[in-house]
Amino acid sequence: MTTMNWLEEVEKRKEDLISATQEFLRIKSVLDPSTAKEGMPFGEGIGQALDYVLGQCEQAGMTVKNVGGYAGHAEFGAGEELIGVLSHVDVVPEGDGWSSPPFAAEIVDGKLIARGAIDDKGPTMAAIFAAKLVKESGLPLSKRVRLIFGTDEESNWQCVKTYFRTEEMPTMGFTPDADFPLIYAEKGLTDLTVFQRHEAFAALGLPGADNPAAKLISLDSGLRMNMVPDKAEARLQPLGLEAAELIEKYEAHLQASGLRGSAELVGGSVLLRAEGVSVHGMDPGKGVNAGTELIHFLASLGLDARANQFVQFTERYLYRQHYGEAFGIARDDEEMGPLTLNTGVIAYEAEGDAVFRLNIRYPHSLPFEQWSRILQERLAEAAYALEVVEHLPPHRVDPKHPLVTTLQRVYTEQTGEEAGIIAIGGATYGRSLQVGVAFGPLFPGRPDSAHQRDEYILVDDLIKATAIYAQAIYELAR
Ligand SMILES: [Zn+2]
Repeated sequence: MTTMNWLEEVEKRKEDLISATQEFLRIKSVLDPSTAKEGMPFGEGIGQALDYVLGQCEQAGMTVKNVGGYAGHAEFGAGEELIGVLSHVDVVPEGDGWSSPPFAAEIVDGKLIARGAIDDKGPTMAAIFAAKLVKESGLPLSKRVRLIFGTDEESNWQCVKTYFRTEEMPTMGFTPDADFPLIYAEKGLTDLTVFQRHEAFAALGLPGADNPAAKLISLDSGLRMNMVPDKAEARLQPLGLEAAELIEKYEAHLQASGLRGSAELVGGSVLLRAEGVSVHGMDPGKGVNAGTELIHFLASLGLDARANQFVQFTERYLYRQHYGEAFGIARDDEEMGPLTLNTGVIAYEAEGDAVFRLNIRYPHSLPFEQWSRILQERLAEAAYALEVVEHLPPHRVDPKHPLVTTLQRVYTEQTGEEAGIIAIGGATYGRSLQVGVAFGPLFPGRPDSAHQRDEYILVDDLIKATAIYAQAIYELAR
């Protein structure tokens, strides 16, 4: 048990904490390749923000190191083991429509408003003040504590990749870059490109349909793998049916199905549009996929041979198959939730490629090798090839690990609330630590303003989080 009243200690330094956080937030640390230079690979703003936090830590007597401007750290304590606290100093661009200037860091109605207030510069400063408190307390530590500051979390994580090539991996640690109470498990994430070239289809030697209604010239849906697309369009060249009949059929389908869209004659071809509902690709069942919905209609038409194969393939394996059921890769993990499949992009060219870009997220109980082999078999049957664009394996810390149980206890002692632990389908910065969890700063029930206009952190929450981090650092390192 701790003998310190951490909250009281933070309250005593409240003014310093707030003004240091404001000063830090006023540095516009947005990725800016135009000002990149030696030692500042992501531009001057981010470079200045990194220098600022390292300076704060150095003044407090910590040992600091700047690793080529990619990341930096500040260390204190003594011992074999290393406790890491990983945060980032970069922010996403501010965007428009703010009610107070995004880099003024004004306090309005108890809210500290600025780009980076909650993600992740407010929490970074909370971690620094927490570490300073532990250091100043003079309480004995049996481990070293290292604050690690990344610089391109909002883009490609080159920061942590570069940093951990040369620097020590903490024994365990947390990142104040997500939600309280604690995120201990994250699904595996894959971005896959599935494509069929015109020649691969020809080699299948499938017979064409008799008297097809139309030829599919092209189809386009979606821009990003991790979003459910809300727009799709297809161009058809009328064959067995007149253009007017195709349009009439689609309009009847829209009426009957409730799908939103339109049909018109453009030049000699018929242009069909569908509108869906875009949501994040980690939960595709909550959206309406404009691409697969449009293809569902095309599957009822009778098209030229290749398009027919393409739409029947989509209809069978991707249309409302949010969990990979038809591919035979569905898995519902009690702890981490189901495998999810999002068809983020579809692109078809009659004389070119047929391409699907998929985002598949999977629980740790279903290994990548296992489901990807099954998927590859189903694809090969239809002459499709698979390319893995990105693969982040699942990340999980055992719920009984002292890192988890200690942080749970600290959270409960500081807030009086139970500390349930969370498994998610997304990715947090915590996964760049070998044994790492995400721990705050957003308290349960608070709206998440990260990446939005008027991003803010409640001043009271900043103070509460600082106290929680102080006790957490002490309990982990003592
Ligand atoms: Zn962040």
